[in-house]
This record gives sequence, C-alpha cells and structure tokens, in this order.
Amino acid sequence: MCSLWRGSSLTLTSSFSRRFFKCCQQLGRSYNIASCMPEAVAFQGVSDHSGLHKFSVNESDRFWGALARQRLSWISPFHTVQNCDFSQGKIKWFEGGKLNVSVNCLDRHVHTCPERVALIWERDEPGTEVKITYRQLLELTCRLGNLLKRQGVRRGDCVTLYMPSCPLAVASMLACARIGAAHNVVFAGFSSEALADRIRDAQSSTVITVNQGVRGGKVVDLKRTVDQAVQNCPSVQQVLVAMRTENTVAMTDREVPLEEEMMKEDVVCEPVAMDSEDVLFLLYTSGSTGKPKGLVHTQAGYLLYTSLTHRYVFNYHDGDVFGCVADIGWITGHSYIVYGPLCNGGTTVLFESTPLYPDPGRYWEMVERLGINQFYGAPTAIRLLLKYGDECVQKYNRSSLKTLGSVGEPINTEAWEWYHRVVGDGRCPVVDTWWQTETGGICIAPRPSEPEAEIIPGMAMRPFYGIKPALLDTEGEVLSSNDSTGALCISQAWPGMARTIHNHHQRFTETYFQPYPGYFFTGDGAYRSKEGYYQIVGRLDDVINVSGHRLGTAELEDVVNQCPGVAESAAIGYSHDIKGEGVYVFVVLKKAAEVQEDVLARQLREMVSRSIAKYACPDFIQVVRHLPKTRSGKIMRRVLRKIVEGNTDELGDLSTLDDPDCVREVIRGHQRLRGDGKQQ
Ligand code: AMP
Repeated sequence: MCSLWRGSSLTLTSSFSRRFFKCCQQLGRSYNIASCMPEAVAFQGVSDHSGLHKFSVNESDRFWGALARQRLSWISPFHTVQNCDFSQGKIKWFEGGKLNVSVNCLDRHVHTCPERVALIWERDEPGTEVKITYRQLLELTCRLGNLLKRQGVRRGDCVTLYMPSCPLAVASMLACARIGAAHNVVFAGFSSEALADRIRDAQSSTVITVNQGVRGGKVVDLKRTVDQAVQNCPSVQQVLVAMRTENTVAMTDREVPLEEEMMKEDVVCEPVAMDSEDVLFLLYTSGSTGKPKGLVHTQAGYLLYTSLTHRYVFNYHDGDVFGCVADIGWITGHSYIVYGPLCNGGTTVLFESTPLYPDPGRYWEMVERLGINQFYGAPTAIRLLLKYGDECVQKYNRSSLKTLGSVGEPINTEAWEWYHRVVGDGRCPVVDTWWQTETGGICIAPRPSEPEAEIIPGMAMRPFYGIKPALLDTEGEVLSSNDSTGALCISQAWPGMARTIHNHHQRFTETYFQPYPGYFFTGDGAYRSKEGYYQIVGRLDDVINVSGHRLGTAELEDVVNQCPGVAESAAIGYSHDIKGEGVYVFVVLKKAAEVQEDVLARQLREMVSRSIAKYACPDFIQVVRHLPKTRSGKIMRRVLRKIVEGNTDELGDLSTLDDPDCVREVIRGHQRLRGDGKQQ
C-alpha cells in the first residue's frame, strides 16, 4: 500500500484512499492501473493506459464526473457533468456545483501541510530566490482579497494585472478568484496601447501593477506603461501599485500603494461560493482577423483539467519542484505555474529572468540550486542555448531532473535531441506538449502513456485523457486512415476548453465551430503517423508564432498601415533559426510618399513596439510597388510565403493573379534584401 500511495495525488483524501484500497481488493485488480490513475480502479474493464484513454473518451461523463468529485473540493456538488453543444458553441461543465478555486489551490493544502513551499520566486539575480509557503500565500491572498473588496471590487468585476512573474502577481490572481472577480493578466512586455486595448475590452475598473520590473539585469518602468495606458481607459478608477524595486514612483489620488494598504487588512478573507461556470479569467490572444480576443475560462473545468494534466503529463509527485519558465502573462503561466501545480499542492517556480542572464547556464544553474524535478520551457530558448555549447549545461548538476517539457511551437529534431541528450543526460522523457490558450491545458503529449512507451523526437504524439482528435481535409471530410495530414480538430468537449470570447460569442462560434461543423477547430494542421501519433505541422490560418508568442498578421498590418506614407502591407511568417518564425513585411507606399527605406523601417519598428510589443517587430521590411493579388483583390499570401521561404520555383498556379509581372519584381526585391542581409 505504501508504494501505491507514494504515487498518488496529494489531493486525494484519506477516506478516498481507504475506499479506493477496498475497491481494489474487491475487484481483485492489479495495482498497475492504479499507478496509472487511482480513480481508474473504479472504471469497469479498464486495465491499462489505452483502456483508460478509451474509457475517458467513450464514457466521458463517468470519467470526468469521478475525477471532479475526487480531485476538487466542492462547496456544493454538481448535478450535471457536461452540457455541451458545439453547434452553438455551448460548453458547460459541472453545472449546479459551487466551489472556490483559491480554496482548492490554497486552504486545503494549508490544512494538511501549511509549511510546504508553494512558490519559489526565482528572482532576476541568481541566488536571491524567495520561498513562500502555502500558509504565507494564503495570507497574502486573503489580505489582497480584502483590499480589493475595500477598494470596491465586486464579484463579477474584471481586474487587469500588468505584472512580471512574482508572488504578488500569483496572490492577485488568487485573490480575484477568492472574491469572485475575474482576472485579466496582460503580459508585461505588451505596449501601453496593447494594454489599453485589453483593459477597455475587459471593462476593468481596477488595474494592478508594479513600480518597475527587473529582467536580465535591466529595470523596466512598468507603471509608466500603465500610466500611459489608463489615460485612454475611462473605465479605470484605480491602480494598485506594488513595489518590485526600491525606486519610488509618483502616485496620484487614484493610485494605491499595494503593500502598505494590504498590510492593514485581515489575514482571513471569506471565499465566495462560485458556480462552476462563473468566469475565472480572461486572457487575450491573437487571431487571424480583427483585434486580439479575450478568451474566457471558467472555474471548475479549467481547474480540474490543468491539475490533471500537470499531474500526469509531467509525472508530478508530491514533493517535486516544478520549474515552468514561462511568464505568467501567457496561458502556460496560468495553467502550469499557477493553477495546475497549486491545485495539486505542488511547489512551483516563478522565473523572473531570461535564459541568458547572467550567462547561458542560467536555467541549469537554477535547476541545480533549486533541485528542479520537472523543467518546462520553450523551443526558442532551447535553440538559442544549444548554440552556446554543452559546457554551459554540463557544469551543473542536473540529476534532480525527471521530466523535460516543451511548449509553444514545434520543437525541431536538433533542439529535441540536444534537450534530451545534453540537458536530460538521455534519461529524462521529453514531453512535447501541444495545446493553446483556447484549450486551457495540454491536449496532446507523449505522456501519459503505457509505462516506458516510445517517444519520438519532435512529436506531441498522444491525446490526453478525454481528448479525441480528428484530422479533416479541405472538403471537411474526416481522414480516418493513418499516415495523413489535415486540419487538427477535436471531436468532443473537455473540461479545460475556453467557453467563449469575451463579448463576442459569435466570433467564438465562427472561429472554432463553424469551419468544421461538429468539431472544435484548433487552427493548426497536423500529421498522424502510421502508428497513429500526432505531429503538429503549424498554423493553417494567418497567425505567426514568434518565439512561441502568437501574432495575427491582420493585427500587425493594422499597425503598419498607420505608418505615414504606407498605403498597404502584408505580413508573412518565415522560418527563423531561433525564434521559430520571424516576421517579414511587404509594404506598398502611397503614390506621393517620399520616404527613405531605412527611415521607414525605423518608424515602422517604433510603431509596432509602441502598439503591440517588441517581439512583434518585423525582421525584414520590403518596399514593393504592388502586392500580388487575385482579381477579386485578395493578397496572395501563399505566393508571398513561398518567396520569403526562398521556394520561388514552387509558386504554383499564378493564373488568378491580377498582375503576374509584379511577382518577378517582388522576387528581385526579396533577393536584394536577403542578399544584403538587411535584417532590421
Ligand atoms: P498560444 O495559445 O499562444 O499558446 O498558442 C498556441 C499555438 O502555439 C498552437 O495553436 C500551435 O500553433 C502552437 N503550439 C503550441 N504548442 C505547440 C507544440 N508543442 N507543437 C507545435 N505547435 C505548438
């Protein structure tokens, strides 16, 4: 029994453990399936991983119902496991149930292990980490919850956070959850305009920020960005300002010194009973058209899904130190720094720095110093680090590592092999995890699987429990045989999926459910191998993935077109050694415009930085007289993409082009630009 329980989830209660053990005895089952997942012993006919996966998709109500009952603490039980209809974009899980997410992430662990470390804040300077126990995090959260209430934040409001990864950011998220407000975390690298857009769309009256951020030895004036943003946000009534550095900042009447005020508050804050389907948070992400969309995630389903994937994809066990180096401003940070690990009573690292600070050994020095067991990072960083050689890795002790994870974009074989062979000494499984803001948590990954099952480099491979992928062709037909490539869709609902786009339910159904009726369309293409494993081949829509950050071509073109002298533009993604994809922009100038190309490039980069973020800046800007267009006026992105990728002999059928000659001009201009090596 001991060895059995060593592998079990922390969240299981002792009464459940007794029932479970009894159940095992009655059924005369081997412990094999219990080591897969303790609840599985109660699922009839399930004896191995593949049986459990089949059960999870065929008996989805029973599977998710049992897990939700066992793994979450409910204030009142749910009456319906799921109520979903893809044709209307209706997704509801665990209706009738009431719970509080912060109680699930904090209070119940404080009852059992108050002094366990919840957060390790790995600050920018190596060796200055700060550990926060569950008891301390609950106290911070309660004080902040009380402060928010005192400042007039109510259930159903949405609070915008513009903060780096730090304990107060986590406590702010959890404080919102505690008092029933939604949070809207905006990545602290976004510009003031991008921040203002998101605050306005979310209709936030409260913003939480820090005076300054610290990253890679540099200080960034985050409050200044907020000051600029809120000038154009009439809804904002107050800004709470935490002090990350000692440098004072000017405060106005509507600004509240966060630490000072929260210390006046009580350490007890009554959690609000939330409905399973109340909003937990909004998170903005780029789409192929229009403005970034605020995807909505709700309480119970999201929490269950992130905690389950955290536990099983990474093989996270009680006592492990989980090191996800994403920023809390992205979905990876939400799901695998905050909600998944904390729901499981885990110890989770909050990484404030960069992979190169103070040198390219930073990640691995941190792994040694903190004893990290699971390391979860992005391919772009792995590609960057491998260029610095093996020595930066090998001089640190990485024997604590058990699982290595990759997320955000496809990981090429060279990077995968290096990660596996050098970082993991060839002994740690590498899990290439495919998922997106919309899916809430990991949907395809090599683990969980049958014990020791093969892992193929650069492949996400296996659908998670409850996930039933499908590939569809351009006619909308399901590709049932293996060894085929198509649009990656998911055939049935799972609890972690987004529920809507804030204020735009129609855009939600149009984007995700109308392209392939009856299916959730991911926007990605995938290949299913002869063995039935999935490999993501990239976006099918006009979304560029720069270093794992999504950028809509429409969003970028919108900014470029506002640049003085620009008549129109087309932004194209191209494969980039480090970033995965880089941005190449074609620009057509207005007739009378007399702009020098380098001046234009400078202006344009400044505008993109100011309107979106630095990562969105184009690598190449090519001025052309005309863009290749169809007779109906649509820009032929396919042709531009081929040119940018250097595949000019594969341009395909150009007969629908309005002016085929312009293609030759574009090619010549491109060759000049790339030949000159004029990376902007
Ligand atoms: P985001 O919602 O910003 O996290 O971006 C999600 C998108 O990133 C997906 O739709 C994919 O295009 C890409 N992506 C994420 N993880 C992977 C992966 N493991 N392999 C390939 N592409 C990925």
